[in-house]
Amino acid sequence: MYTSGELARKCNVSRRTVQYYDQCGLLTASRTPTDQRQYNDADVQRLREILAYRNLGFSLKEVKRIITNQNSSKYLLSLITSQQDNLTDKVAKLNQQIASLDFLKKQFNKYGYFPGNIAEGVAYLMDQAQRLRRLRIKMIVIGLILDICLWGSVCYVVLQKANLWYLGIGLIVSLILGYYITMTYFHHSCYLCPNCHSTFTVPFKNWFFAKHTPNTRHLKCSHCHQVNYCIEEFKK
Ligand SMILES: [Zn+2]
Repeated sequence: MYTSGELARKCNVSRRTVQYYDQCGLLTASRTPTDQRQYNDADVQRLREILAYRNLGFSLKEVKRIITNQNSSKYLLSLITSQQDNLTDKVAKLNQQIASLDFLKKQFNKYGYFPGNIAEGVAYLMDQAQRLRRLRIKMIVIGLILDICLWGSVCYVVLQKANLWYLGIGLIVSLILGYYITMTYFHHSCYLCPNCHSTFTVPFKNWFFAKHTPNTRHLKCSHCHQVNYCIEEFKK
């Protein structure tokens, strides 16, 4: 027979845990003549079972149901399936939170502050960043097609001594693609002022001739009127 302390040591838990499980009715101690709790080998086995189910994330209420429905494997299977579904949902939510934190950290490291209004929700900001990335990829692909059309027609005319019409067609296609790229990019770009953190757009001429980096453009904020390298954002 074991006392509460001996049972606790045997199962690597605290004495308080043993007493608590006893109070919850998960363990049933017999009493000595001096009213001390006593446990037997079956209780050691019971406590180990309880701990194993607790490690799987079951609540005490569920553990109690499991160990009092020992013969119902159907019931246990339903609880395991439900617990697995709960944990899968929690993992998905945690992964989403980790991705959001990772996004914010990267944005902060890149700009020194959080671009965009966090009140709109991190999921929205991530979506906007994704849309901007897709827009840039689309522009690069169309830009490459433009180069192929332009330089292809030049090379064809020069090297093959082909009709100048080919050069004309190449130029017209390149101009159309160039116009499309420029206007699409302009219409889907807005800028975040690093001074007042407001978002603004500018007239085409100011936008087109402004100095720029891959992520920013040197513009005058329409709210605070300061000139800064403003962060490019996606505009719907
Ligand atoms: Zn501003």
